[in-house]
Amino acid sequence: MLRWLRDAFSGAMLPPVSEKTLFQKIMDREEPGDILYEDNLCVALRDINPQAPTHVLIVPRNPIPSLDTLTEEDETLVGHLFLVAQKVAAEEGLTDGYRTVFNNGPAAQQTVAHVHLHLLGGRQMSWPPG
Ligand code: AMP
Repeated sequence: MLRWLRDAFSGAMLPPVSEKTLFQKIMDREEPGDILYEDNLCVALRDINPQAPTHVLIVPRNPIPSLDTLTEEDETLVGHLFLVAQKVAAEEGLTDGYRTVFNNGPAAQQTVAHVHLHLLGGRQMSWPPG
């Protein structure tokens, strides 16, 4: 009885298990995803709802929620995301150009709270974006 009480109480004191983001689940192969590239810092996967013939998301392994929560420690990481975008664009044959986008916050329609760089190409883009 004493042991049961102690175990029940210590269990109640444990911090809640933090929920993985969708992109972490894809990286960890817990959810399906079309992964094109990965390294120790990030993963590039095809967007499930592509807005262009090539639409790839470059996602850091670290689940930073948004651009607003980046710190100086992330400076190298952010540069790395662009170099991976450049590499994927070349592999996808986007020789005429491509667009990279970070949606940040509700006004920009960010829907996944795990920062990610969109790489879009394979069609003529218009400006301004919607
Ligand atoms: P954002 O709206 O900027 O946060 O971008 C999130 C992107 O994730 C959208 O373009 C979605 O189409 C895409 N997305 C949502 N679920 C998945 C998934 N399971 N696999 C790949 N991309 C996804």
